[in-house]
Amino acid sequence: MRKPFVAGNWKMNTVAQSAVALAKAVAAEAAAPAEHGVDVAVCPPFVYLQAVAAAVDGSAVAVGAQDVYFEQQGAFTGEVSVSMLKDVGCTYVLCGHSERRHVIGEADELVNKKVAAAVAGGLKPILCVGELKSERQDSQTEQVVSRHLKKGLAGLATEQLASVTIAYEPVWAIGTGLTATPQQAQQVHAFIRNLLADLYDAATAERMRILYGGSVKPDNAAELMAEPDLDGLLVGGASLKADSFVQIIRAAI
Ligand code: PEP
Repeated sequence: MRKPFVAGNWKMNTVAQSAVALAKAVAAEAAAPAEHGVDVAVCPPFVYLQAVAAAVDGSAVAVGAQDVYFEQQGAFTGEVSVSMLKDVGCTYVLCGHSERRHVIGEADELVNKKVAAAVAGGLKPILCVGELKSERQDSQTEQVVSRHLKKGLAGLATEQLASVTIAYEPVWAIGTGLTATPQQAQQVHAFIRNLLADLYDAATAERMRILYGGSVKPDNAAELMAEPDLDGLLVGGASLKADSFVQIIRAAI
């Protein structure tokens, strides 16, 4: 039985005060759903990680970073390492979010190094995969998702997958208000699980959590979560308001 997992990606939003206020409000409201068995995380900008970790300390809410660099230390101006993220209270880290792939220009090879460094260093990576609108229109969805998954997980041993979460995020649905239908999402989630079974084994594939992300809102969260291979939600815009994020967490029970 896979435990549902809801993560909020705040992207480049909030300031110190609003980040702490949002974190505290989510922590206060997430206690009851967490008791029902939902894992919850928030992913604020790097500069507010420590303050947010302090704000949710002792609650059911974990903290994740939005990115990481794969080297341990040294002359990598502007980058942040796995141990630094752990040092400020992170449990999770997003790797290969579509905005990093398509706005910043990260390639699969770099994403893979980040996933591997996170696992090796004791952070739990959330590997984001998903196709562009043009790729879906060209019937390339499975090909793209398969490439993101195979290259993103390259070199990882089966037992290392225990700390990895996959997030399927069709790029055309992120921040656009266009959500994949539950059936569209389920189709890709089932494809991902079958691929994991081929790449590793059926038991590992059954254990792995696959989140959906892309314009998740309180009014579509429950129908998405009703799909058998959807194990949680990665939420952008709707995680910036405590009440909508908490409604989404409740829908995941
Ligand atoms: C995201 O940033 O991962 C995301 C899914 O954003 P939104 O919910 O705003 O589409």
